[in-house]
This record gives sequence, structure tokens and C-alpha cells, in this order.
Amino acid sequence: MKQSLMFIPTLREVPADADIKSHQLLLRAGYIRQNTSGIYSYLPLAQKVLQNIQDIVRDEMNKAGASELLMPAMQQSELWQESGRWYSYGPELMRLKDRHGREFALGATHEEVITSLVRDEVKSYKRLPLALYQIQSKFRDEKRPRFGILRGREFIMKDAYSFHSSYESLDEMYDKMFTAYSNIFERCGLNFRAVIADSGAMGGKDTHEFMVLSEVGEDTIAYSDQSSFAANVEMAPVTAEYTRSDETCGELEKKETPSQKTIEEVAEFFEVAKEKCIKSLLFKADDRLVLVLSRGDHEINDIKVKNLFDARNVELATPEETKEALNCPIGFIGPIGVPEGIEVVADAAVKAIVNGVCGANEEGFHYISVDAERDLKVGQYADLRFIQEGDASPDGKGTIQFARGIEVGHIFKLGTRYSVDMNASYLDENGRSQPMIMGCYGIGVSRTLAAIVEQFNDENGIVWPEQIAPFDLHVVPANMKSDAQVALAEKVYADLGKTYSILFDDRAERAGVKFADSDLIGLPIRITAGKRAEENIVELKVRKTGEKLDVPVDELAETISRLL
Ligand code: ATP
Ligand code: MG
Ligand code: MG
Ligand code: MG
Repeated sequence: MKQSLMFIPTLREVPADADIKSHQLLLRAGYIRQNTSGIYSYLPLAQKVLQNIQDIVRDEMNKAGASELLMPAMQQSELWQESGRWYSYGPELMRLKDRHGREFALGATHEEVITSLVRDEVKSYKRLPLALYQIQSKFRDEKRPRFGILRGREFIMKDAYSFHSSYESLDEMYDKMFTAYSNIFERCGLNFRAVIADSGAMGGKDTHEFMVLSEVGEDTIAYSDQSSFAANVEMAPVTAEYTRSDETCGELEKKETPSQKTIEEVAEFFEVAKEKCIKSLLFKADDRLVLVLSRGDHEINDIKVKNLFDARNVELATPEETKEALNCPIGFIGPIGVPEGIEVVADAAVKAIVNGVCGANEEGFHYISVDAERDLKVGQYADLRFIQEGDASPDGKGTIQFARGIEVGHIFKLGTRYSVDMNASYLDENGRSQPMIMGCYGIGVSRTLAAIVEQFNDENGIVWPEQIAPFDLHVVPANMKSDAQVALAEKVYADLGKTYSILFDDRAERAGVKFADSDLIGLPIRITAGKRAEENIVELKVRKTGEKLDVPVDELAETISRLL
């Protein structure tokens, strides 16, 4: 590819608003441009890298027995109402209306769409297991889009979903996906760890995150220095600020402010909430109740919340107790809001009960709102909150070390969370109707690109791992006015072009500019036709090591095959 034909707008200056390496370099080297907060264009070089990552992802997904499809990004609200997430997902879900006033979501994830698709087509155990995946743009209105494409509001995800007639079959697929994910990130050249995403709730075998080790990671990993134990600690910062918020988790609470509700209305509200937000739980302590609506996209949330209350000897009210108990003040802990950190969530819950900060008011009840992301972390924090660096590890081997990680992948056993609510069932061998058992498996493809840059760079630019680089070779005639240099470079371009992908810098720029751009762009090998062109000698530079060799052109192919 001739560089003069490509769109690679490099920058000399470090962009002011980019505060981490990958964001700076992707802007400077002409890979991405921001359109608006959290929304980016991937320029031609980035598109090539994305394709390389996607090739690896597809290859491993196909090997795991999943087949590719493409689902719509526009999703009718009815599906999300069936699962309850229309009410519980919160403001991260981008919502819009068509000209008839029908409501839609822009796909933040596709459990609803795939469950509805499969339930309509798969009726018998004979058609299971079934695994499907897609690579597509996802939309999440992140509260804090940042670090460039590491946390965007529109980003590219590979999402896979599997359907089973037994938990053993789900376990098998989960293991295959675990292997596929390990292979994918290894083939991307990344230094990563698979970590238990939730250590408290389910014994740590039902959900894993794949974490790229990096100082700029937003997650904290506790790992053993002598075993494979690794878990997400989710050490959320503690702030003691309680915020009353009118911002709520969906239509339910928007109808009126809570302080206007009578106890009867609250009871009714709870009935609706129970139906719509499947993930609601009711806790009783002393003479007060706390209604917890967890985010509801994974059933594990409830268990985490339950663990938290168990740890404090707070009893979970039975459904029979509920009605009677509703005759006392109620506290509501919803999934949306401002306060940072799980300590706040935990304390808020306990304070709500003990001090009546929330819900002790005879006239009604107040909100304590809880951050949607943070409320995912209750059980984990309850379990791992006391872990310190240097502690013995939970599995009895080695001591605990901490590291920071970027979550690039997440695999999860969903069980029947969606199939029950959405009525996705099949007939078993005995002709009995059973809910399908499901798993889901996500990879942030665009985030992976940035994570690679975060791990592979130096002071001059990006240093792509060979299998990911947008081109294998950068061929650079140093001086376009020198016929000998141009002719030799063109010969190299033609000869090696049969075996390698090549970016050919045919621009009439100064050699210094070309070299600086070349380092910035970060292809594995640069071949320069320069001063010794007349002797048929080129200079070969290895980007990773900086090593430079003068190589006669007829030895070039062999030298490169040794290096790549
Ligand atoms: P995070 O904890 O970073 O918000 P998540 O747990 O919400 O991520 P999942 O729902 O597990 O994300 O989605 C699967 C994958 O999609 C994540 O592992 C991550 O790699 C990627 N991803 C999620 N949110 C974003 C985003 N805003 N920008 C880019 N990639 C993302
Ligand atoms: Mg998130
Ligand atoms: Mg996460
Ligand atoms: Mg996740």
C-alpha cells in the first residue's frame, strides 16, 4: 500500500486531553480520531489492526464450535421489558423512539435479542447445545467515558451466547470458551491473567474476567505469587457522601417522587418492582425493610447482595413475611446514582436499617441511590475487603500480590436468568418443557486494541506485536529525489509484497519526518533504501529492539524470514 494514498494523519504534539499512553499514541500515530465524548472513528491503520484482532477472535470462536451471526443494534423495548432490564439497566442503556413513539434500545449487549431468536427456533433438546457469536458495535452511555477507546460509549465487542440442556454441557462450553479466550489474548501478544470475577458468590468458577496487566487498568487484581489464584478485588474508593437522587433506575420510580407514596402505594410499587425487576430482594432488619433492586443483568448480583447482608446477620424476609412487614418504613436501595464505592453501598444499606438514613421516615421513604457499576461489587467486597498485599492466599498457596488490570474479556454462566423470564424453553427427552441453560462470553475488541498499545510502546511510538501490526513491513525510500533509492525501494516493495503486507512510504517528505512517522506507526520492520542504494544495500531496522543491519537486497527475504 502506498502511504501517499492512505489516510494517516500523524501529529507531532501530544494531544492535551489524552492522559494515557495508548490514547496519546493512537491519536498521534493517526489511528483514531474522536467525534465526540466516547465516540471515535477508526482510521485505516486502526481498521487493519481491528481486522487482525477479529481474525484471531473468529478463528478461536469457530474452533470452540460457535458460529457467527449478526444481530440488530436497534432492539425493541418489549424484549428488555420481558427480561426486566428495561427498568433495571439504568442510564447506561441508550434509549430512543421511532416516529410512532415506539421505544428502542441501542444494543449494550444482546442477551434479550439472542434469547428471543433462539426460543422461537429451537424447541427440542436435540438442537442443543448451540453457541452463536457476533462482532458488532455496542452502545453504553458510560458515566465517565475516558482513556480514548478503552472506555467508549460506542465500542466494538465480540459477544457470544450458548444454550444448553444441562449444566454439564454449559460447563463444557465454558471451559472451551476459557481456552479460546486464553488463546486469543496470547495470540494478541498480551500479558494477561484470567481472574475470578466474583470470588464470593459462586465459589469462583462461574465467571472469569481476562485482565491485561497495566498500571492504567481500572481494576485491582489480587493474585498469588505461587499459584494460579487470581481474583478481581474491586477495591472501589470509599467516599462517605450519601446523595438523594431523583435520577432513578427506570420508568418505575419516575412516575412520582417517593415521598408522595403511601404505604399501600409502596406495597403496590413493590409488587410491580418484583415483577419487572426480577432482581429485587427484600431484606428485613429490626422493624424496617430494605428493598434492594440490583442491576439485574446477572443473577450473581443478588447473591452478592445476599452475602453482604448475611455477613451482617441481616435476615432476608420471606415472601410471606413481606406483606405483613410492609407495614413498616421502607428503605430503597436502587442501582442508579452517584456515591462512589462499595463501602458506601454496604454502609448505606446498614445505615438505612440501623439509623434510618433511608426509609425510616413515617411519611414515606427516601432514596439512597447507589452507583450502577458499584452495586455489582457488593459480594466481592464483602469477601475480599480485608485482603492485603502479603496475606496468605485463599487457596493456601503463596502470598497475595496486587496488580492493576484492564478488563478485555468476561465469561459468565448465566444459567436460566434470561430463559425463565423470556420463556425460552425446549422439550427434554421425556417431552417435558425445560428452561434453556445459558452462558455469555464477551470481548472488548476495540478495548483490546488499546490495551495492546498500552503494553507495546516506547518513547518513539507504538511497537506492534507482529501478528497484530497493520502491515508487516515499512519500506522507506529516504529521499524521493534519488532515482537509485526509489528504484531499489520499489524493487523491494514488489519482491517482498508477494509474501508480506507492506506500507510503502512514497511521500516526498524529509527522511527525518519519514523515520519519525515510521517509529510512531510501529510496524515490526523498517527497510530503508538510503545512502547505500547504489550498492543494492538497504538498512533494516527492527522496531522492537532498535537493532539496525545493512542487508544486501538478495539476502533480504532470508533475513526477514528469520526475524518475523
Ligand atoms: P467495565 O467493567 O470495564 O465497565 P463491563 O464489565 O461493563 O466492563 P461487560 O459487560 O463484561 O463489560 O462486556 C464485555 C467486554 O466489553 C468487557 O470485558 C470489555 O472488554 C468490553 N467493554 C465493556 N464496556 C466497554 C466500553 N465502555 N468501552 C470499550 N470496551 C468495553
Ligand atoms: Mg461497564
Ligand atoms: Mg467489569
Ligand atoms: Mg464485565
